Amino acid sequence: MVTVTRRLEWDAMHRIPLHESKCRAFHGHRYVAEITCVAPQLDELGRVVDFGVIKSLVGTWIDDHWDHTAILMSGDPEATPIAEANERLGRPVYWMKAHPTAENIVSELAGVAQRLLDPTGVTVVRIRLWETPNGSSEWTLG
Ligand SMILES: [Zn+2]
Repeated sequence: MVTVTRRLEWDAMHRIPLHESKCRAFHGHRYVAEITCVAPQLDELGRVVDFGVIKSLVGTWIDDHWDHTAILMSGDPEATPIAEANERLGRPVYWMKAHPTAENIVSELAGVAQRLLDPTGVTVVRIRLWETPNGSSEWTLG
């Protein structure tokens, strides 16, 4: 199987409301996602998909929704002032139903990336999301 992987990076704040230690405080990460795709067959140039297509579709969505804002859990009692401030400052908070752990964010990204890439005919089969240089979570299809 031939795959391609495009790396996308962004900066965002989050917190894990029920975390046992310091991750319950608001803090930021340089998130790095490695998005791996396959296609039923290579195109006439010999590509699964152009790297630029993944950047254009998924990278733009990330820039619009996750970069330089906060990824927070709906109902987080501490989040209201952050949400109000970011709304006023033009970077609305992204709300998740679950705690914004690397595991939940990578799963969210998998759904988003597949929806955005559907028109190109490629399938997202793997995403590794680095929350820190030493810690990552991986989503795989199936
Ligand atoms: Zn964190």
